[in-house]
Amino acid sequence: MKIQTLAVGELMTNCYILCDEQAKVCAVVDPGGEAERIAAAVEKTGCALQYILLTHGHYDHFTGVAGLLQHYDVPVYIHPDDAQTGGAGNPWALKFPALDEKHQRWYGEGDVLTLGSLMLHVLSTPGHSWGSVCIVVENVIFAGDTLFFGSCGRTDFPGGDYKSMLLSLARLARLEGSYTVYPGHDRPTDLERERRMNPYMRQGLTLA
Ligand SMILES: [Zn+2]
Repeated sequence: MKIQTLAVGELMTNCYILCDEQAKVCAVVDPGGEAERIAAAVEKTGCALQYILLTHGHYDHFTGVAGLLQHYDVPVYIHPDDAQTGGAGNPWALKFPALDEKHQRWYGEGDVLTLGSLMLHVLSTPGHSWGSVCIVVENVIFAGDTLFFGSCGRTDFPGGDYKSMLLSLARLARLEGSYTVYPGHDRPTDLERERRMNPYMRQGLTLA
């Protein structure tokens, strides 16, 4: 398993390319912009792109999707609670515009995707948005805007909820074992550090 990080777009969102090097396949997590640069990085891996995963539906995590679909005919996964599946209005502005049936896939709690020999486990972790998820693969967590180094994602956008965030962080804290955490912004961290030092995670553990 190999992971490459590209900070993309004006908010320097962490886009990750996850490769199973033996099987020569890869997935892109959160292409938040700069699709051409991401596509070039995917080509360089020598791995075939299997699918695109979104940790949540904020534009700084999905803006590169359309550009990538120009290069790759692959499915795009998101939790349905973070997609525009009808209606209009303020909260919809902070959601992912659903794709055509051919490309749109939904995922949520308990789903498992395979990537070569890798198993990607989907955890529903609301708090930053309705449909935020974390993806756990081997000893790695792609945390989106749920868990950051020493912090957590904002909960003041539509769909954000502080109590849900704390409970989601507590849930991550209770995963058994050690994990490297790849967040949606800023530097990676490890779960053990966050269990000890992260004030939000610690607060969450007092609730749940
Ligand atoms: Zn976000």
